[in-house]
Amino acid sequence: MKFVCPDCGKEVLEEVMDGVVVYSSITSISECGDHEYDTKHRVYENGDSVHYQCMNCGFILKTKNGEDICTCEDLVSWLKSHMIRIIVVVEGGVVQNIFSSHPDLDIDVLDHDNARNGLDDETAEKTRVLNERLEKEIKEKGLEIVW
Ligand SMILES: [Zn+2]
Repeated sequence: MKFVCPDCGKEVLEEVMDGVVVYSSITSISECGDHEYDTKHRVYENGDSVHYQCMNCGFILKTKNGEDICTCEDLVSWLKSHMIRIIVVVEGGVVQNIFSSHPDLDIDVLDHDNARNGLDDETAEKTRVLNERLEKEIKEKGLEIVW
């Protein structure tokens, strides 16, 4: 599953924990007792999730009741409820309907078949112009194939 921050759009999720016991290997100790650690060799034990947040902007994931999410179960249901779902209905080789779980979603159909045949000149020309715009958008905005 993938996290996408609803505030900033970045995709790195961070878990914030409390009460963790940390075992660190010490690499050097000065005369006054200050010491340095080998940060690559640390072992963490115990600890509880306090919350999950966006690593970029600090957006904290909340349950529907407004509580900070701190369990795996709540995390999964948050991710599922924030996942954008698109269902495309095709019948007889033609797209009949496109359903989406997100109201802000803008859907365009890049239709190669109808740009070439089966339409009058004017409609085919409009489809061809739209296709060109969409192809340019796919390239320039780096849109991903999601299905
Ligand atoms: Zn964010």
